[in-house]
Amino acid sequence: MKSLWMRLFVFFCLMIAPLHVYAADIKDVRLWTAPDHTRVVFDLNHHIDYEVFSLHSPERVVIDIKKTRMLHQPTALNLPDPVVKSLRYGIPKKGVLRVVLDVKEKVGMRSFLLKPMHNKPYRLVVDLLREQAKAGKKSVKVAKQKAAHEIVIAVDAGHGGEDPGAIGYNGLKEKDVTLHVARKLAAIINSKPGMRAVLIRKGDYFVPLKQRVRLVRKAHADLMISIHADAVRTRTVKGASVYTLAERGVTADKVAVALAAKENAADAIGGVMPEARVDDPMVRNILGDMAKRDSLNSSQLLAESVLVQMKKVGTIKYNAPKRARFVVLGALEIPSVLVELDFISNPKQERKLKSAKHQQRLATALFKASQNFFRRMGMLFMEHSATKANAS
Ligand SMILES: [Zn+2]
Repeated sequence: MKSLWMRLFVFFCLMIAPLHVYAADIKDVRLWTAPDHTRVVFDLNHHIDYEVFSLHSPERVVIDIKKTRMLHQPTALNLPDPVVKSLRYGIPKKGVLRVVLDVKEKVGMRSFLLKPMHNKPYRLVVDLLREQAKAGKKSVKVAKQKAAHEIVIAVDAGHGGEDPGAIGYNGLKEKDVTLHVARKLAAIINSKPGMRAVLIRKGDYFVPLKQRVRLVRKAHADLMISIHADAVRTRTVKGASVYTLAERGVTADKVAVALAAKENAADAIGGVMPEARVDDPMVRNILGDMAKRDSLNSSQLLAESVLVQMKKVGTIKYNAPKRARFVVLGALEIPSVLVELDFISNPKQERKLKSAKHQQRLATALFKASQNFFRRMGMLFMEHSATKANAS
């Protein structure tokens, strides 16, 4: 009897032994290139112990991870990137996986672990912050100072990078649709005299919600449009909807509250250092005081103007704008709206959202809405001829 127990014990020890050697596996590695940093993300099946440091001549960023195996061959990485030349790994000592990022320049570092959420596993995020980009940006900023009487429109493409946003039945990602429409809208705006667009996101990388607000403010924008696409379980649901920021204490519509919670979760999915994340879905400190009520009213006007135009290029889900507490609408000194272009969860609408022609129509609708809004506000005195010449 004793020997049977002994044998079972030995068998059990052998079974769990490999688990002790490797506490975690790296199942995927992704790289996202933003203008001021490069983000490297490791998908893990478990919490890890890790350390990030830099080595010089040549410049390298080293990530030592304890008791972890690299199960992924990081060959599919989008390399080279403006910062990362190559990624390699090895086992410098027993129980340590060393990932080495060969970098082109000296970089700042920021790293954090994200807990599993929204179908995402444990993730280790390592951001390589470009010092040169920072210095370069200042001169760009001076060059791009707002001219007198110039109208600046901030165009915010929702989601990006780690955060795909909603995903269509056939796999179309919200982050791609929003970026395409945003770029098209920016191109229309930039073709008009006296108007300039500022793209809040320029590529496939994540921009935290509060950072978007900061960028809108920094651009001294006169108006902000945040572009999204919605998704629900029922595949037949379709139509655009437009949202503005709700004042604190105002009972918002249930649909709008649920949508705001979904959109506000972007930070957790996209990857923001836990302490910088907006945890409270009601988002304290968005609205300073009631002096900002004017911009709430003008946001309402802008939202109505957007609905009128969206109706011309497709269906709309609700006849009036809805309100909720969206973090990204926090730049409330200016009229700001969040537009859900359509339901990406509807395969028919998904196909439309994917088409460049339809994206152009949507972008034109958003442009016309902004133009009409400024006209109503008496801020735009554009020559019709100039507009027409550019419109074709
Ligand atoms: Zn969205």
